[in-house]
Amino acid sequence: MKADRTTDPRQARLRERLEAIRARSEKSTSWRASTRYLTRLVNRDGFVPVRARLAREDLAFLAGARDELIAFADLGVRLLELHRPQESGGITSDPDNPIQRCRACMWRWPCPTFRAIDNALDT
Ligand SMILES: [Zn+2]
Repeated sequence: MKADRTTDPRQARLRERLEAIRARSEKSTSWRASTRYLTRLVNRDGFVPVRARLAREDLAFLAGARDELIAFADLGVRLLELHRPQESGGITSDPDNPIQRCRACMWRWPCPTFRAIDNALDT
């Protein structure tokens, strides 16, 4: 079966990775209530006396990390939905490998946005 030229296997891989990040974040316990309590325990050196040394900045990060990560994953998925390849049409010297362009930004595929997402998430 001939592959659909308007899909890129890397898109499915990135989407799976973003959705896994989202699912993992949603399953985690929110730190919002804990950080409210832990913030009151910050000693005069600026740390909470638990096994890990948590600075105010760490607590501020942890308080929002879950929601921010979900938002980040949503952004990534949305960008992947927007930046997809399509055949550009027109005359080509190689009819078996027509030039593809991004539906959103019209750059030649893979576009800079897709490459940026790919580079950021590819491990
Ligand atoms: Zn694009």
